[in-house]
Amino acid sequence: MKSHICKIKEQGFSSGSCLVEAEGKRALACQATLKYENNQTYRLITSIHLSRPENYLSIYQSGCNFSCRKCHSWYFSKIKDGAWYTPKEILKEAIAYEKLVTLVEPKARATSWHAHDTCRCCGSCVLFGKRSNSCPGILSPESIVLSPQGFGPVRNIVGFTGGDLTCCPEFYGECARLIHKHTSLWVLIETNGYGLTPQNLDYLKNAGVDAFWLDMKAYDADKHKWLTGCSNDTILRLPEEILKRGFVLEVLSLYIPGLVEADELESIALSLKEVDNSIPFTILAFFPEYRMKDYKSPTVKEMIEAYNRAKATGLKNIRLGNVGVFAPTEEDQQYLMAHVEKGVF
Ligand code: SF4
Ligand code: SF4
Repeated sequence: MKSHICKIKEQGFSSGSCLVEAEGKRALACQATLKYENNQTYRLITSIHLSRPENYLSIYQSGCNFSCRKCHSWYFSKIKDGAWYTPKEILKEAIAYEKLVTLVEPKARATSWHAHDTCRCCGSCVLFGKRSNSCPGILSPESIVLSPQGFGPVRNIVGFTGGDLTCCPEFYGECARLIHKHTSLWVLIETNGYGLTPQNLDYLKNAGVDAFWLDMKAYDADKHKWLTGCSNDTILRLPEEILKRGFVLEVLSLYIPGLVEADELESIALSLKEVDNSIPFTILAFFPEYRMKDYKSPTVKEMIEAYNRAKATGLKNIRLGNVGVFAPTEEDQQYLMAHVEKGVF
């Protein structure tokens, strides 16, 4: 491996857990999936498509600065995979996508969270000419589009997802500048937060990044380290750093039985509430994947307990996600409906 200076280490932070598999060898994600050539930045992109239920354009990146044992995109986040894209090539995708937009959102709704308010992606209005019981009743059927991941609107947001290299923020910054110059789309980054040092946040703010979807994986330092390979010291302080710079923020955490349970989720919710009690927080049900195949998914009762404890902290906007995972039976769903308000799942 070539000698290499880690960009966040230069700023006084520790390097991530960044090794990925590349051509049968191990390499740092920032060397295998990011490159600078001919005065241009290139990022390895696995796929680009309209994601449901987020209802925005997702750019799936190969290479990540974490090594999460539960990663559901490990086959491209921890293995080099995809095609090289410059920011100009990302812009071309964004321009083509913008022509398809059917739902224009204000910046404050440049999140995955707000997608839920307008459409549940059931397709009922298009397929059967009538809304489903869960439909929020806001959008016309003309704004509902069938895409490879199903029905829903096309929102004016571009999201970077998959692997995370915000520790090397230039690619994101160059994309955001171009997207804002040539389109009216919002730019969101789905992130583990590790690369978002104060210096990198300032850079991304100046470049025009609008929003972050922060995945807070555990409150307890040892659990976080075991789960991801890295410390969560700076991540726990990140919501405040993000909001004070004027970004839009939403947070998600996974309920992982035996590891990240109601007490952990309550601590995360409390830490968010202490910053701003309106931060949207999604508690997602874990399902077995990658190196955590022997862990179970949470039950409906466990998810409701986590919801109640998070809500009791005073945090106002909490939602449960992956209903099909934690409430797979009719009985589970009846139980869920009897115990939490409509709109929570
Ligand atoms: S931060 Fe996300 S993409 Fe990266 S290893 Fe963890 S779960 Fe996978
Ligand atoms: S707008 Fe159409 S697709 Fe969306 S939730 Fe309502 S009925 Fe379903």
